[in-house]
Amino acid sequence: MDYRGRFAPSPTGLLHFGSLVAALGSWLRARHAGGCWLVRMEDIDPPREVPGSADAILAALPAFGLVTDEPVLHQSQRLAAYDAAFARLRAIDAVFPCWCSRSELAAGAGLHRDGRCVAPPDPQREPAWRLRAPDAAIAFDDAVQGSQQQNLREAAGDFVIRRVEGLYSYQLACVVDDAHQGVTEVVRGCDLLDSTPRQIHLQRLLDLPTPRYLHLPLALDSMGHKLSKSAQAWPVDPDHPLPALRRALTLLGQPVPPDAADAPALLAAALSRFDPALIPKRSGCFAG
Ligand code: GLU
Repeated sequence: MDYRGRFAPSPTGLLHFGSLVAALGSWLRARHAGGCWLVRMEDIDPPREVPGSADAILAALPAFGLVTDEPVLHQSQRLAAYDAAFARLRAIDAVFPCWCSRSELAAGAGLHRDGRCVAPPDPQREPAWRLRAPDAAIAFDDAVQGSQQQNLREAAGDFVIRRVEGLYSYQLACVVDDAHQGVTEVVRGCDLLDSTPRQIHLQRLLDLPTPRYLHLPLALDSMGHKLSKSAQAWPVDPDHPLPALRRALTLLGQPVPPDAADAPALLAAALSRFDPALIPKRSGCFAG
């Protein structure tokens, strides 16, 4: 099957160094496999969205030489597909409505029993919808992190698929769109490694194919914290793409080409030397 990879940023701030690592890692892997590289804007969470950041991210990527092979897919345009997937999960009784408040949930896990919510239904309020987490191990092989296994009930519990405000969760939208875009391998930061079993479980319930997975090391600050877009940490400068691209290559364990006139030239040189076996498992420090 032809390789199809993707980069799926959320519009929660400017393109930052951590996102650039994910964008570059997924691009290198796709190009190295002779495949397509797609961009998907994960704009389904308006409360977390920073106005203007989706456009800023999409404008920054080509400055780093990272150009999508197909039109950008915007999740905000895909609600009908998520409605259909949610209807299917309801039809197979895989989800249940939950009226627990945050404080009730914080007080203990006892509010869900036998895949049901024990809080009384409140006709005045919309419920959240949760997926029943099976007491079963979900296993997969990650191309960098190796073999992984997670008991979904212990690790994630009955997780939210549709929030009280009617917004769909990242897990559901991601699974529906990876299948819709024909993604054959998901390459992303290893902060999402523990989301993958939830996504594999959803794929099985929805009869969708499971892509391969490759979770990249994260860029950490000097305190060992993940660079986060919401903290506005280290936005990269599209006017000077080469230094950030070189640092991203270093974080990915790749040889850094000595000199390059511009971003496309640096990427071409990096691609000719790219070796996925060199990608380190462990996250690395980003020395500003
Ligand atoms: N939208 C997510 C983020 O920006 C990434 C989702 C993914 O790659 O699956 O962190």
